[in-house]
Amino acid sequence: MELDDILYHLGENHDDWYQAIAPPIYQTSNFRFKTVADFREKAKDEFKNHVYTRGNNPTVAILRKKVAALEKTEDCLVFSSGSAAVAAAILSRVSQGDHIICVDKPYTWTRKLLNDWVSRMGVNVTFADLKDAQELHKHITDKTKVIYLESPNSMTFELQDLAAISSIAKDNGIVTIIDNSSCSPLFQQPAVHGIDLIVHSATKYLNGHSDVVAGVVCGSEEHIRTIFSHEYMMLGAIISPYEAAMILRGMRTLPLRLERSDTSALKIATELSGTKGIRSVIHPMLPSFPQADISIKQMSGTGGLFSILLDTDDIVKCEQFADALTKFRMAASWGGYESLIMPMCVFNSYLGNTQPLYPTNLVRLYIGLEDPDYLLADIIQALRFVID
Ligand SMILES: *Cc1c(COP(=O)(O)O)cnc(C)c1O
Repeated sequence: MELDDILYHLGENHDDWYQAIAPPIYQTSNFRFKTVADFREKAKDEFKNHVYTRGNNPTVAILRKKVAALEKTEDCLVFSSGSAAVAAAILSRVSQGDHIICVDKPYTWTRKLLNDWVSRMGVNVTFADLKDAQELHKHITDKTKVIYLESPNSMTFELQDLAAISSIAKDNGIVTIIDNSSCSPLFQQPAVHGIDLIVHSATKYLNGHSDVVAGVVCGSEEHIRTIFSHEYMMLGAIISPYEAAMILRGMRTLPLRLERSDTSALKIATELSGTKGIRSVIHPMLPSFPQADISIKQMSGTGGLFSILLDTDDIVKCEQFADALTKFRMAASWGGYESLIMPMCVFNSYLGNTQPLYPTNLVRLYIGLEDPDYLLADIIQALRFVID
């Protein structure tokens, strides 16, 4: 299906909506039945029928159709956060005694979920550097049920070869899950490479306006039906119809926003490479990127994220640089209209944080919709604190 059909037509039945152009918000908790027989019939399969909004809701259903189509999968579920989506996808595939292989630097709360919670269920987790897919052979056991990927990682952008990993996983009957938030479904479609379940923090690019927290899981109808009748209905981390409508509205401009962020970020990353005050630039589409062969093979763009390493190891200079930026807002998250920075010196000065995951001079940039030259000038002026 063409991108424009997905974004502007799929799932939109104007005949059911008094010919309204914008999708209606079905702000209802439940649905009525005309007869006992009707109730009995519909209650048999909440996955297919409208019974209660913790299961199906017509506004959320439009979003599910569009996101599933963007990811080239059969179905999708929408959750109240990206972390809820990650948890549902992982928990749906494991029981006591099982084993998970996870890429070594997943999103912070994914790592915590695996370390602090999934392990309490008696599930063993191995964190592995999967830059080389063959590395998997060292870790797969007969208990391995899930391989969890995040490519690119959203801080240092390490990649995994999706086709190579899914092929090894399939040979061993293992389900693959990927967090695809960083690329968005526009720049990378893991299902095409054989990945089974695709999760996103919809808080980021899909909504795109820094005003909704949500997540999605995409996959085959069989996988999604399993998650629906367990983690989705039982844990109940659903999204409200209103927020689903906000995300639908955000997605109307997804290609425009992403192309703008992608082009501007690559331009700024290129300009900053070799600039005084910057030790290196980490961007998957720069020729200097160590896994550039893989990014070119499986990604058609990167989006607005990249990182810089300041040319100093002095935490004070890193702080001064970050504090001197006036056009970037300092904040967690990304994917909205506004440019952001996330300096690692914030976390690396924590008392007791003796083994930080990322170096103190690393600054993660998110390039939003502003003019790239306007943003570049701001970075250049702030670098005076690094150079002096
Ligand atoms: C933000 C983020 C999440 C978590 O999503 P929330 O919507 O904040 O719960 C998961 N993975 C990645 C890569 C993220 O950036």
